[in-house]
Amino acid sequence: MQLADKVALVTGAASGIGLEAALLFAREGAKVVAVDVSEKGQATAERIRAAGGQAHFVQADVSKAADAERMIAEAERAFGRLDILFNNAGISHAEDDDAIHTSEAVWDLTFAVNVKGVFLGCKYGIPALRRAGGGVVINTASFVAFLGAATPQLAYTASKGAVLSMTRELAVIHARENIRVNALCPGPLQTELLMKYLDTPEKRQRRLVHIPMGRFGQASEIAQAALFLASPASSFMTGAALLVDGGITAA
Ligand code: NAD
Repeated sequence: MQLADKVALVTGAASGIGLEAALLFAREGAKVVAVDVSEKGQATAERIRAAGGQAHFVQADVSKAADAERMIAEAERAFGRLDILFNNAGISHAEDDDAIHTSEAVWDLTFAVNVKGVFLGCKYGIPALRRAGGGVVINTASFVAFLGAATPQLAYTASKGAVLSMTRELAVIHARENIRVNALCPGPLQTELLMKYLDTPEKRQRRLVHIPMGRFGQASEIAQAALFLASPASSFMTGAALLVDGGITAA
């Protein structure tokens, strides 16, 4: 078990990457704090407990400071410490949103969840990792932080670039405190976040032609990479961007 006795908080745990990571971390021995703005996150905690693991659900909006502070406090109250902070919750918006078509409201909401959410998780979570004597932060960025996309989502792309920059800076700040901070950069996945916008075969095909492996990734494949970053297997990695993207950034 790669995460035996560790306490891991996963945001966005109701669906997609967060759901798969919460289940995988629990199978690897972690006590899991499943956080989501949706009450469906409760089902994730119930699945872990039904399989014999330990889990606690916190309904919280990562873009709100009071909620972020409460999720960390509840993690420490439930399990006594925090070792792994997976800032994964994120939102997307319609394709073909260039500067002209992106509304101010979409820009603000995207940055509130994707960027401020990661900042607030770190603001309240890093002191908890310090109290535990060190730990791991994983921030979900995206392959779009590296590429201009043929199917633009300007606010989303800019938000993920910000997550990557924030990750690198935090990694340097905390490197001598036994706190590693890395970015997980998935490619296009078959999850709700993307598929609700790729709602026709034509739109899906337009994306698939850019992926050398010729398919969308699965959330479970990204969860495996998150486990690597969370575990001692990546003990000399900090400030890294781990691309798990079917080759899209290599093409
Ligand atoms: P998803 O939509 O399946 O899951 C996202 C979860 O985050 C949902 O359960 C949602 O309720 C939750 N959430 C949204 N806003 C929240 C908030 N304010 N506070 C708390 N929880 C909130 O999406 P996913 O594909 O699993 O995406 C997870 C992460 O991976 C996101 O950061 C996303 O940007 C990133 N990502 C996804 C893809 C992709 O193609 N799906 C590619 C690269 C990166």
